[in-house]
Amino acid sequence: MTISETQQMMKQMMVHIEKDEEFLPKLRGDDRVKVFQSATEVLTTTDKVVKSYIRVSRDDRKIERIPAYRIQHNNIAGFYKGGIRFSEMVNEEEVENLAVLMTLKNALHNLPYGGAKGGVVLNPKDYSERELNLVSKKYVQRFAPDIGPTHDIPAPDMGTDERIMDWMVGEYKTIHPGGNYLGAFTGKSIDNGGAKGRREATGRGVYRSYWWLVHQWARKQKDQEELIPKGVHFQQYKKLKEVYEKSHDGHPVQLAVQGFGNVGSVAALMAYECPDINHHVVSVSDHIATLFHKDGLDIPKLIAFQENYGQLPNTEQQLEEYGIEAEILERDEILTLHVDVLILAAIEDVITRKNVEEMKAEIFVEGANAPITTEADHYLYEQGKVVIPDILANAGGVMVSYLEWKQDRITQYYSEQEVLEEMYTQMEDSCKRVFNEYFSRGINGIRHTCYINALKRLFTLMYKHGKLF
Ligand code: NAD
Repeated sequence: MTISETQQMMKQMMVHIEKDEEFLPKLRGDDRVKVFQSATEVLTTTDKVVKSYIRVSRDDRKIERIPAYRIQHNNIAGFYKGGIRFSEMVNEEEVENLAVLMTLKNALHNLPYGGAKGGVVLNPKDYSERELNLVSKKYVQRFAPDIGPTHDIPAPDMGTDERIMDWMVGEYKTIHPGGNYLGAFTGKSIDNGGAKGRREATGRGVYRSYWWLVHQWARKQKDQEELIPKGVHFQQYKKLKEVYEKSHDGHPVQLAVQGFGNVGSVAALMAYECPDINHHVVSVSDHIATLFHKDGLDIPKLIAFQENYGQLPNTEQQLEEYGIEAEILERDEILTLHVDVLILAAIEDVITRKNVEEMKAEIFVEGANAPITTEADHYLYEQGKVVIPDILANAGGVMVSYLEWKQDRITQYYSEQEVLEEMYTQMEDSCKRVFNEYFSRGINGIRHTCYINALKRLFTLMYKHGKLF
């Protein structure tokens, strides 16, 4: 999904909110029109785009000039917040779109943050530890005026991890001696003020959103089925119910996970271990290959391999060495397998107009940001398939980042159990609000319902702050 697609959807949802007479009923007539126009203008434009170049001396002494970004979309709901991505695919438009999604995500889950995102155009696998350390420190030097615990708080994203956050916080401390440096970054190591359970939080939250919809919602609708709007909504409900019933009739739910990094590997493990829904995690994939086994893959063994080699096994010899039973398929074959549930936890734009008709899964969970384009999303909706959107499903990480930021301010640390309980409670509250509203009000899509919720919060804050006349 591109930035213009995201903005287009925001505009459509603002029109929808304007027509909802129950929302700010005192705002009427011309006033209502003007106020909505100015709010739409603010929310569909970005506060600040900073592009810089990081110069690093490579191990062979050559100097390289690498483009880097920090983009702050909106801070009406609180300090800017969003990850830093290291990937050769990074570009300004993508970073801006991810910053907008952060604003919407934080607003949807009632977190006291706005939205931002950062990116560096490099493939971390091509850089040594020393080179990555230099890049991380230079990033902080370049963007130092724009980052801070009460201004803009970065976190890890694709290609970055706690080691990089630790280096960044170290550099921030050098630049700002005596300041509250720990709160300037989240996703740090536990020794360095990080929250217990942060690394697993996004993957756990992704799985929890799907689990909640099937196990806590669909399972309990039997006596109220007639309240679900006929058409797409009812079709979706039937699919969710079938998944639940299948699992309890002794036929494991077939689940696949694209991307086996921080998010995907944890979501796969959650499905593998889940006591409430009987799954076979039949397929997982990474940037090289897809692995498949019709009776389910051994996820703990695959995680052990991934921890050692940084990728999934992709030769018969590697599979044999680790005693893993699997067939090796082409990388993108995972998308079109006959499965019930497909968790997308790799990159953007993997399901598009070109391949959407080949999709066989019934439930799609967006662990990654924007993996389904708008056209493809619309097609899946028309087919009665269920898409749990990114801003709902993958917020576990930023929820725990908030706890980390809070604990670093008061230097009183949460236990892992407290972190998990807080995150699950918050995720379930959001799921309950979104899914109940979606299925009871017959809105055209779960993503639309999420956008409406987020935009209403942002609108209300701007209005109450006296920013809209
Ligand atoms: P990661 O770098 O740990 O893992 C990414 C995985 O995707 C790797 O297994 C990689 O091999 C795989 N991959 C890359 N290109 C692929 C392709 N074309 N096909 C299949 N697999 C491919 O990243 P991550 O932190 O797990 O993030 C994954 C996604 O989740 C990203 O879109 C990120 O923005 C989003 N996300 C992450 C977090 C977080 O806390 N880490 C939070 C919210 C959203």
